[in-house]
Amino acid sequence: MKPAPFDYYDPDSVEEVLDLLQQYGDDAKILAGGQSLGPLLNMRLSTPQIIVDLNRVADLEYYKSDGTGLRVGAMTRQSTLEDDTNLRTTQPILAASIPYIGHRSIRNRGTVGGSVAHADPAAEWPAIMLALDGTILIRNTTGTRTVDASDFYISALTTDLKPDEILVEIQLPNWVKTSGWSFIEFSRRHGDFAILGVATYLTIENRRCTKSRIAIIGGGPIPIRTSKAESMLIGETISDELLKDVSEQASKELDTDSDMHASADYRRYLASVLVSSALQEAAARAGESGGQ
Ligand SMILES: Cc1cc2nc3c(=O)[nH]c(=O)nc-3n(C[C@H](O)[C@H](O)[C@H](O)COP(=O)(O)OP(=O)(O)OC[C@H]3O[C@@H](n4cnc5c(N)ncnc54)[C@H](O)[C@@H]3O)c2cc1C
Repeated sequence: MKPAPFDYYDPDSVEEVLDLLQQYGDDAKILAGGQSLGPLLNMRLSTPQIIVDLNRVADLEYYKSDGTGLRVGAMTRQSTLEDDTNLRTTQPILAASIPYIGHRSIRNRGTVGGSVAHADPAAEWPAIMLALDGTILIRNTTGTRTVDASDFYISALTTDLKPDEILVEIQLPNWVKTSGWSFIEFSRRHGDFAILGVATYLTIENRRCTKSRIAIIGGGPIPIRTSKAESMLIGETISDELLKDVSEQASKELDTDSDMHASADYRRYLASVLVSSALQEAAARAGESGGQ
């Protein structure tokens, strides 16, 4: 099938993009890497009257670390971050997750902003944003605003973005060196979307957990944090018994239905197994990095 007819604009500045969005609102759709939008257009699941292509907006393609953390412009390609070996120490969980995004050719075109804005619950970026307390910088013709990732995802493929807004940048806080982390996912073949995945982040001080994040990929209509399971870790010393209870609680917090890829029961089972493994790995890494 071919896309329904649309008018095509390829402005070269953010201001022009925003003017077009203000003018056309709901009738317009932004094109970034096209790796998700392309299939939707071809199958006519999305039939915008106007496409606003961001590929000539050079100002949106950058990433930099400053005093507060990592800032990534929306049009930065997944493969650009994948190729930066420094990120393996400065943002290890992010660096570990990117190779799981489809295949290299998809990561060469697919953008950070597109992945975060598309809000696929089985995608890696949204869960990483939750696990790392990421924030999202959004702009329209009247100004900018910042939204916490935990408030950004509303329902399946739906975010807090309004029709006249674009995602400009994502921000991740500086990595705390004494933290531990793990990223594990299960899919039928490498490159497939995950049936279930887990990103965990732990800070341990004086042998007690002071911060915990457990973000789940493929566990519901939106990426989720299992907040009750997270809170069970706070103030505690990590033990096998505790991790068993925490992972069972995490699996109960999934909001999942059965689909053609897996039953809801199987996803819950996977969640308890993967959360347990991920927390063990995160705790071990926290210990190795001095978080005792
Ligand atoms: C075969 C295949 C396998 C894949 N496997 C995976 C996988 O395992 N994991 C994974 O995470 N992804 C996977 N993807 C999706 C891929 O990561 C996409 O690149 C990503 O989801 C969307 O990024 P994009 O830049 O291509 O965005 P586009 O497809 O261009 O846009 C996606 C959506 O986001 C909106 N949008 C884009 N940029 C902005 C912006 N700056 N502001 C506001 N809205 C914006 C668009 O309007 C559109 O609605 C796969 C894709 C394919 C084709």
